[in-house]
Amino acid sequence: KHNPEGDAEFLEDETTKKFARKVADHYSARTNQTLEEREASPIIHLKKLNNWIKSVLIQLYARKGDAVLDLACGKGGDLIKWDKAKIGYYVGIDIAEGSIEDCRTRYNGDADHHQHRKKFTFPAHLICGDCYEVRLDKVLADDAPFDVVSCQFALHYSWSTEARARRALANVSALLRPGGTFIGTMPDANVIIKKLREAEGLVFGNSVYWIRFDEDFSEKKFKSSSPFGIKYKFHLEDAVDCPEWIVPFHVFKSLVEEYDMELVLVKNNHEFVHEYIKKPEFVELMRRLGALGDGNQDQSTLSNDEWEVAHLYLAFVLRKRGEPDRT
Ligand code: SAM
Repeated sequence: KHNPEGDAEFLEDETTKKFARKVADHYSARTNQTLEEREASPIIHLKKLNNWIKSVLIQLYARKGDAVLDLACGKGGDLIKWDKAKIGYYVGIDIAEGSIEDCRTRYNGDADHHQHRKKFTFPAHLICGDCYEVRLDKVLADDAPFDVVSCQFALHYSWSTEARARRALANVSALLRPGGTFIGTMPDANVIIKKLREAEGLVFGNSVYWIRFDEDFSEKKFKSSSPFGIKYKFHLEDAVDCPEWIVPFHVFKSLVEEYDMELVLVKNNHEFVHEYIKKPEFVELMRRLGALGDGNQDQSTLSNDEWEVAHLYLAFVLRKRGEPDRT
């Protein structure tokens, strides 16, 4: 049985560190956009759709007063979503210094380029750090346990080595209370590998994204070698351009079980949209965000190319084993 205290030290080699730095520098360098720039983005409707998916996850799984840990929180784009869920406490961590700075600015309410809004109702603790290297149970000893841990569009950055993937899940498991929930979104390896098989070479994509696997990638190697460190380069217009790693879902599933968590839900984002758009409360939210036109059950506003990008991701919900403390 897994013993969080007894893990071997997860040491990092220079190459692993270099890639983590590359990812951090990429996100750190992304400056805040003005509202006009954002609306002109070729993936504006995809961004809105992703915000809708994250909002639905938060509304479904966060309760009033919850303590929330947002791993790889970025610029704090989800702060408003957590505020709407009336959470009681928020800890956000990200490896990119620039993003945490933006998150701090957004939280403090000054220079918020979107709107002048009241301050958030919950206290927040914002930290710059590598969630997949550092033992967060030590760093956050005074903040834990959490009712909800969230990791949106970021867990795959832990899959560069087994040690990092384990550190990520060990952190989540150690910080969640028994019965607590881990929600997230990450690339859907099944879809990506299927697209790779259909592609001519090691590259595929459309007008808004491309994925390029490393030259040494081969199907044979993929099937026989380690399920960690399967690297590709991901480019998404106006959003991402950095190394990422495949997260084979069956490996993810057995690893989370090792860390005392069980799978509650996994859905490709296409399936997620089809399922939750039927619910009246989420149709209204979609209408307000404007990702799918006026809330029709089709993709009237999203371009086909953006909709294809949505297919590259999945949403998951995990539950930390044990009975919640009822006192
Ligand atoms: N969760 C945010 C959201 O949904 O808007 C940001 C998502 S962004 C696609 C990925 C984020 O993961 C970036 O902010 C990046 O800096 C962060 N990240 C990548 N590797 C990380 C690590 N090792 N530790 C902490 N954050 C990391």
